Amino acid sequence: MNRRTFHKLLSAGLAGLKTRPEAWLGEKPGAEARPAQPTRWPGEVYRRLLIDTHVPDWNPILLSRFDAEDYVSTIARAGFQCLMQYAISCAGLCLWRTKIGQMHRGMRGRDYFGEVMEQCKRRGLHTVAYFHVVWDNHGFEEHADWRFQPEEGEDEVLKGRYGYTCINSPVRDYYLALAQELVSNYDFEGIFNDMIIWPGVCYCPHCVTRYRSEYHTEPPRIVDWNDPEWRRFQAARQRWLFEFADAFTKTVKKARPITVEHQFATVFSDWMAGVPLEMGTKTCDFVGGDFYGGPAQFSLACKAFNGLSRIRPFEFMTSRTNDLTDFVTIKPVDELRLAAHHRCDQPRRHDQSRRVRVPARNQRGTGPLRAFPRRQAARRRRGLLRQGIDVQPG
Ligand SMILES: [Zn+2]
Repeated sequence: MNRRTFHKLLSAGLAGLKTRPEAWLGEKPGAEARPAQPTRWPGEVYRRLLIDTHVPDWNPILLSRFDAEDYVSTIARAGFQCLMQYAISCAGLCLWRTKIGQMHRGMRGRDYFGEVMEQCKRRGLHTVAYFHVVWDNHGFEEHADWRFQPEEGEDEVLKGRYGYTCINSPVRDYYLALAQELVSNYDFEGIFNDMIIWPGVCYCPHCVTRYRSEYHTEPPRIVDWNDPEWRRFQAARQRWLFEFADAFTKTVKKARPITVEHQFATVFSDWMAGVPLEMGTKTCDFVGGDFYGGPAQFSLACKAFNGLSRIRPFEFMTSRTNDLTDFVTIKPVDELRLAAHHRCDQPRRHDQSRRVRVPARNQRGTGPLRAFPRRQAARRRRGLLRQGIDVQPG
């Protein structure tokens, strides 16, 4: 992240902190129902792990060698207390036995998510489900009616790696049904909902119709902060996202009283993402998110989260590897220590955060060997090589 980007993030974050969220959401403070009392697990668990598993299924080898017992035992031996396990990813494919969504074809009758939950229980690891919305290749490809549609046209989306959906389309009910099914059918303690942002300004028929019905006018097409019409449109985008997050939280809590956390690093993004401050303070049991911008950004984020989180500890995630695209090169230990320091650079009594390391999975389903202590990784690699399994990221 360069200086300019950081200052943009900084000003966005501080501007957000000064705003009274109720004012621009048009709501009275405390008017909505608060989430039910969460379980006690967050206060007991500081060493957490998330392993990126955005794996598609266009090749039969993808995730074909996944071994839940080996995977969880490696994580447990490394000293983690909690595993955040992928249930669905950017690929839009479910890793659990679902009757609603599209299952990853590599499963072939297996239940990746269920197997991991079972192994975690055996080894005494706390469990959180990783959920995913909006960045959704399967939803985008299979349902033209669900697609996010920017002003520039759909071609803009097709240039990228991911298809986006619009939460004002029927995909909203689909995501809520998926979450309800997952929470109802498996026993885990929390759910993290990633990518709950606007990928841009959407002008799909569902957004246009909703805006017309709420304000009896067309949504403006020109970004002009001096124009009250534009500011009203932006407020509507933020409220729509908030309402979706709120519906998600209530759907989950109705199924089971587990903790709900929506991705909230995005509150530091620019206006385009449309993330309201209230999404963190009112729809999440605790706030959290992943950061890769370096010490100054980490420090700002942790101070803000410490103040915003309804319960503590809040969650600070960063990668064990260089970044999310290079999942091979491990950060030097000193760099990791520095990142860890920023979660506690306030007086110790306020040290209320924890870290989650985010290495990525080998596409075949082995790994993340290099993200663990060297001795363990070497032992693990030797074992797999004896079984004839290629352990290099593919
Ligand atoms: Zn839309």
